[in-house]
Amino acid sequence: MMSSIVAPEAIDLLGLDEPALNSLLAEWGEKPFRGRQLRQWLHQRRVYDLEQMTDLAKSLRARLVEQANIRLPEAIFDRESSDGTRKWLLTSGGGNAVETVYIPERDRGTLCVSSQVGCALDCRFCSTGKQGFNRNLTAGEIIGQLHYATQALEHEGRGRRVTNVVMMGMGEPLANFRHVVAATNLMVDPFAWGLSRRRVTLSTVGLVPALYRLAEQSNISLAVSLHAPNDALRDEIVPINKKYPLSELIPACAHYCDRTPHRCIYWEYVMLDGVNDHQAHADQLIELLRNVPSKINLIPFNPFPGSDYRCSPRDRITRFADRLQRAGFITTIRRTRGQDIDGACGQLVGQVINLRNRGRGSAAVSGN
Ligand code: SAH
Repeated sequence: MMSSIVAPEAIDLLGLDEPALNSLLAEWGEKPFRGRQLRQWLHQRRVYDLEQMTDLAKSLRARLVEQANIRLPEAIFDRESSDGTRKWLLTSGGGNAVETVYIPERDRGTLCVSSQVGCALDCRFCSTGKQGFNRNLTAGEIIGQLHYATQALEHEGRGRRVTNVVMMGMGEPLANFRHVVAATNLMVDPFAWGLSRRRVTLSTVGLVPALYRLAEQSNISLAVSLHAPNDALRDEIVPINKKYPLSELIPACAHYCDRTPHRCIYWEYVMLDGVNDHQAHADQLIELLRNVPSKINLIPFNPFPGSDYRCSPRDRITRFADRLQRAGFITTIRRTRGQDIDGACGQLVGQVINLRNRGRGSAAVSGN
């Protein structure tokens, strides 16, 4: 008979939020304040060498060295747009990569973070969806994007910082619930990243049961990818709507508003020429959101090779916004950023992976 010894998997230290770290330390017979010290070393001082964490007992450091890992992602693509937007393709090895994007604005710097490699939801206008689903990111890989970007920006020496995080990169955050909640907990934890919950936004297509769970476990800001004001159209553009129709989605969002100390939901609505941009659609939207505290963000569609849609003309987007605004909704039109370094969200990964499939190396891909 053969016997095999399976080594226990190393603990992914970077991804442990307060409850996870506390329960590990309790199991090890350590005092709870050690968890605070560890989170400060890792996320505030960004010290990744356990030996340098001098105020931790030697025995604890030794046990951590033996059983835990601190893994940071590496960039296989790094480029800055003429408008200052910086985009990385990050990997933790194994041939998978995700996009992380830094978007500088006058009064803030927003980091757009990915939650999955690929996406299973197949929204019709989304380049990530076209690539299919590969796997969930771990909590360490999600928070690792914030570590990587913060260090890269510090390295630039231009004083640029991450002040806001949006989970609007690749993937559906609520389909990777546990890891996304742990990572966002670390973002708002005063002993870790310490961002205000208003400055951390999760963007979801609206997985209804997960929205109710989120209301129990988190209070970060919520953006919902709506894109259509009625079920017939949303079924077509955002197919998960067939499972969670508007009659379930809207009350779940209203519940999140009620349960958490937020004033509103941020609705995302991508403007698709001739598809969802008529004045009648604006009127349906006004009716649909009548009873939910709402802000509406109109997103000009970002075309990518092989996409079926075109972006609505500018004047139609403006008229759509005017109609919503006259009905009392705060409405913004998203500025398109970083267009010279790639088009739509998820497109970069597609390009790199396609190039690789054609047998070119990463040097040709990174192009910098
Ligand atoms: N799965 C989540 C988060 C990822 S997408 C969600 O659906 O919200 C983040 C935002 O980018 C969503 O609002 C999505 O609809 C939008 N988006 C995706 N592809 C786009 C494209 N080609 N042009 C404009 N916006 C796009």
